[in-house]
Amino acid sequence: MLQLDLKTNKAASIDLLRLPLLGGLLKWRHARTLLQIPLFVIAVAMILHGLFGPVLAPRNLATTLTWIHFRGALVMVLLFAGNFFCLTCPFMLLRNLTRKFVHPVRNWPRRLRNKWFSISLFVVVLFVYEWFDLWASPWWTAWLIVMFFAGALVIDSIFKHATFCKFVCPIGQFNFVAATVSPFEVAVRDHDVCTQCRTKDCIRGARAPEAPLVVIQRGCELALFQPRKVGNLDCTFCLDCVQACPYDNVGIMSRLPAEELVRDPLRSGVGVLSRRKDLSALVVVFAFGALLNAFAMVSPVYVLEQRLANLFAVTTELPVLAFIFALFLIAEPVLLLGIAAWITRSVSSKQRSLVSTAARYAYALVPLGFGIWLAHYSFHFLTGVFTFIPVTQAAVAELGSAIVGQPRWGLTGMAPNVVQLFEFGFIALGLLGSLLVSYSIAATEELVHPVRVFVPWAALSLLLAAAAFWVLLQPMEMRGVVLGSG
Ligand code: SF4
Ligand code: SF4
Repeated sequence: MLQLDLKTNKAASIDLLRLPLLGGLLKWRHARTLLQIPLFVIAVAMILHGLFGPVLAPRNLATTLTWIHFRGALVMVLLFAGNFFCLTCPFMLLRNLTRKFVHPVRNWPRRLRNKWFSISLFVVVLFVYEWFDLWASPWWTAWLIVMFFAGALVIDSIFKHATFCKFVCPIGQFNFVAATVSPFEVAVRDHDVCTQCRTKDCIRGARAPEAPLVVIQRGCELALFQPRKVGNLDCTFCLDCVQACPYDNVGIMSRLPAEELVRDPLRSGVGVLSRRKDLSALVVVFAFGALLNAFAMVSPVYVLEQRLANLFAVTTELPVLAFIFALFLIAEPVLLLGIAAWITRSVSSKQRSLVSTAARYAYALVPLGFGIWLAHYSFHFLTGVFTFIPVTQAAVAELGSAIVGQPRWGLTGMAPNVVQLFEFGFIALGLLGSLLVSYSIAATEELVHPVRVFVPWAALSLLLAAAAFWVLLQPMEMRGVVLGSG
């Protein structure tokens, strides 16, 4: 439903929870469970097929669905809606079930209440993906899914609240950062209602009137207090706040994508972005990791690996890969952000350290980083979108049933040269977003010379976009797709 906020004179916004059918479904108390069940069933099928099915990756559900469909669908939903993967996350189904019997009493250690641990896990997943060629290994892919289930179960059985989502899960961190450019957020409908509200159930949880100590609907487990929540960072779209609010005052509202990266207020459960060095580092890994992950699947990477192996006189991939990761995820960002921050300091009227300057402007890289992830994942998704059909047919046939017919291995997806046009579009869109965000941050921060401050960050975005375009033009591996009939 379209809303016009007369008090703030804000632009009209769409509230997904007020749309017919969809709104009713999402507001239903058991909507999350209903949406999680099919994904849980699919995840179990992927694990079983990965462990016991064919070893050829393009014929296996674990590799096909994980590396082609799941990643592609994830970024598309983030682009057009928001963090709906976390809403439907199958790991949380098992965890929520366990929480009915296990009631943890410990808090996650204070020194780990930041993103450093999850950033390390994010890098480990990217590294292991290349080292173990996960896209080509159903067995390892199945174990990766098992580890996510086990991690969520163990961590959230020991520690209170949504510890796994907020401080551990690498997929969650990816979603939180990417969702800053999504067009929808979970937000308060009318702040005046919150001002009058005495119970604050959205954070404390709703209690039974006859037994005030009994929580009948939990509040936000990620410590996001609705009236002071800003944007999508750390929000899993679990909709617990929607269920808990006694005034029906929380919606899924449309908003200007990426605007939350410009503003720097105190955010509930997150703090002040410019002071969160861990979040800035997460954003940097998100943006540079996008480029590295795409670069790792084009032909020039093999030439580079061979040259490095000769240089180091090694015959194993591990040290070479470690060097490439250190080069692209540490040395390159430190150098490029360092130069941009140094130029900013020399033209800025603000007195800020080099690290603080880099930390503030790093958020401008999110739209471009997301554009690169989108281009990469959509390539696999769109060129292999129909591959799940023959793989599923074959998996059912392996069980001795011909109910879904013989596998049609010729089904793949769109032609790569057509998909390439989408890829260019996504990166161009991301570049435009990063330029707008970096100028807006400069205009917010700098009263005197915003354009001068904008220039080095614009140059950095242009450089990364040029590198992404170059990667796109290289011959790419058709990971996980078997062409032709089999
Ligand atoms: S969102 Fe609902 S429960 Fe939370 S403060 Fe506002 S009115 Fe109260
Ligand atoms: S309860 Fe917290 S994490 Fe869940 S949708 Fe509401 S704000 Fe987001």
